[in-house]
Amino acid sequence: MERRLGTVERPLRVAIVGAGPSGFYAAGALLEQNAVQVSIDLFDRLPTPFGLVRDGVAPDHQKIKSVTRVYDRIASDPRVRFFGNITFGTDLTHNDVRRYYDQVIYAVGASSDRKLGIPGEDFLGSYSATAFVGWYNGHPDYADLDFDLSGENVAVVGIGNVAMDVARILAKPIEVLAKTDIADHALEKLRHSRVKRIYVLGRRGPVQAAFTNPELRELGDIEGVEVIVDPADVELDPYSLAAMEGNRDITKNVKTLRQYALRGENGLPRKIYLRFLVSPVEILGENGHITALKLRRNELRPIESGYLQASGVDVYETIDMDMVFRAVGYKGVPLPGVPHDARRGTIPNKSGRVLDPETGAPIVGEYVVGWAKRGPTGIIGTNKPDSAETVRSLLEDVPSINPVDDECATPQAAEAFIKARRPDYVSYADWRLLDQIEASRGQALGRPRVKFIRIEEMVSAIAATKHEISRNGADT
Ligand code: NAP
Repeated sequence: MERRLGTVERPLRVAIVGAGPSGFYAAGALLEQNAVQVSIDLFDRLPTPFGLVRDGVAPDHQKIKSVTRVYDRIASDPRVRFFGNITFGTDLTHNDVRRYYDQVIYAVGASSDRKLGIPGEDFLGSYSATAFVGWYNGHPDYADLDFDLSGENVAVVGIGNVAMDVARILAKPIEVLAKTDIADHALEKLRHSRVKRIYVLGRRGPVQAAFTNPELRELGDIEGVEVIVDPADVELDPYSLAAMEGNRDITKNVKTLRQYALRGENGLPRKIYLRFLVSPVEILGENGHITALKLRRNELRPIESGYLQASGVDVYETIDMDMVFRAVGYKGVPLPGVPHDARRGTIPNKSGRVLDPETGAPIVGEYVVGWAKRGPTGIIGTNKPDSAETVRSLLEDVPSINPVDDECATPQAAEAFIKARRPDYVSYADWRLLDQIEASRGQALGRPRVKFIRIEEMVSAIAATKHEISRNGADT
């Protein structure tokens, strides 16, 4: 007898690839609905869940990280399993997913970065903020990087919240960072940092800035640091004045910037210069290492859509520079077997349904959420409604999908397959052990946790603890 899809006897089997906020919110939305019985497997390339909450959110923003309690609750539901340390494309291919799951949701984020496309970008001392953020957060992909913080002048290109994070981490007193879960290697490097001047460079004006007000104000609250804004930069052109009108967020930002402009320079040891209407045009260097950054002045010009574009004028300046971080946005990378829009760095989709790039038609049973769906924008909470929209599309499609064969449609079948492919996969119970070990390593030092940085270390710490537990169990 054929068992009907979405019933207790034959739940809808859904794979979610990526266990960051958007993946968890997709799982949460699937659990919350009552129309269909579901059974969900959540995969991640890393042994650890939570994506950018663990590896992107700045270590001095622990409160934001407490959102993991919500994800913990979702993972505790018996209808959800976590498989960490599973790389899509090798440990789990597109074909495998289609063989074992009725529907799949890609929640892979945007792990790469955009380049400036200017000469000198490859000099030593020119880095992506993505790499720096990954490094100071202890993301295993960036464990082997080394940032030379022996110079005094640093530029951060871009005026979004990632630029704010990078400037803040470079500027904050080490005693403050030492109480966070920043990676130990970064803490050690920052302890000996000689950075004195941080130039945060916006190609457009204060009204067009992408940072949010709490992040902007936070810069001004760092001990021993002064934020310097040129009063001329906060005198707005008519287009910007019109754009600010009635917009509370922008008005707040401009107000904060004007307060900074009034403060002037007071001789504090570290300075953050917030500059506007300038674009780097060349990174200058000697012997392969950065020595200076050449900037061009911009004016704002409206284009047809109403967007105010930075348009270069013939005014240049060159500032001595030891490091340049580009914080000009993340970019998605292609997944093997899954459509990819190279220009936007996303998976082409309509309301979360993955589209075939050839025909433009939805690929039945394949969905996308989060940054892979809409591009690298929005805060963590933005992912909740975004994932809910995709889940609505997924549920609407249930009657028209082609269910997988019965022998593959069980949680046991998928688990057996994964175990055979990757015996050292990490379950949620394993992650909880790792979480406890990290937290207890931090406790003695008054830190929220001391992170494991390398995948091998994570996997062996879990194995050693399980071994210990089973030995103790056998002894009693
Ligand atoms: P973002 O908010 O998109 O900001 C990117 C910045 O780079 C913009 O100022 C943009 O200016 C600038 N830019 C782009 N191309 C440029 C170029 N060629 N030259 C100079 N400047 C250029 O991106 P993000 O900072 O990477 O942040 C990604 C998302 O994560 C955002 O939604 C952000 O709010 C969020 N986030 C939130 C937090 C938090 O809540 N604390 C922390 C980190 C990240 P234009 O406007 O001129 O393009």
